[in-house]
Amino acid sequence: MRTLVISDIHANLNALQAVLADAGEVEQVWFLGDVVGYGPDPNECVEILENLPNLQALMGNHDAALMGYISIDRFNREAAQAIEVQSLIVTQKTIDFLELLRIKIELPDLTLVHGSPRNPIWEYVLSPAAARVNLEHVETYGCLIGHSHVPMIFYENEDGFIRTLLPESGDRWKPQGRFLLNPGSVGQPRDYDPRASYVIWDDEEETWGFKRVAYEIEPVQDRIMALGIPPRQAARLWIGT
Ligand code: ZN
Repeated sequence: MRTLVISDIHANLNALQAVLADAGEVEQVWFLGDVVGYGPDPNECVEILENLPNLQALMGNHDAALMGYISIDRFNREAAQAIEVQSLIVTQKTIDFLELLRIKIELPDLTLVHGSPRNPIWEYVLSPAAARVNLEHVETYGCLIGHSHVPMIFYENEDGFIRTLLPESGDRWKPQGRFLLNPGSVGQPRDYDPRASYVIWDDEEETWGFKRVAYEIEPVQDRIMALGIPPRQAARLWIGT
């Protein structure tokens, strides 16, 4: 069975469409949070997301801020402005969907969180030290995380050390120990590769396949500018940061 793993769409319709077209047929979808924030198309992205097969969906910090569950004072000014703009354009249907998002999902062998196992909304896991501490908060063999917008794997090798992998497009990883895995970001990659990022979990091969796909950035930037979202949110899409 093929499972599509995506995170941090950030209201980028073109990127989401490119990922879905590239991924092909999948039986289920795990979404790790942040469908809104930064980009111009929150309603369009939610409409696509909620119709994906067997969807498991998490709440990210931007989703929580748009719903008023956390204060936008905790965001930098430009991220907060994007959320303020989006709060004027989101439909009731989008709100209804965001309301159903979960903070943590536990499957038989996997835990799904947006940030980190010990702090699902806010913590970035970007170092082996953070991964080690967080693995202690995971009951399952593996854990999927988003939030940092960087595709990464941390796993515990047989000597008990945490190893870090930075997978490239086309890489397939077979788990060699307990792990945290981040599929990267669909709508706003931050590893200096502007292509949308996603992962396919193939449970027969037992592989996590990382993939990048190019999409048309310019129309997204035009819509960001037209809505009055800060220009930096448009410019950063070119460089992937
Ligand atoms: Zn995000």
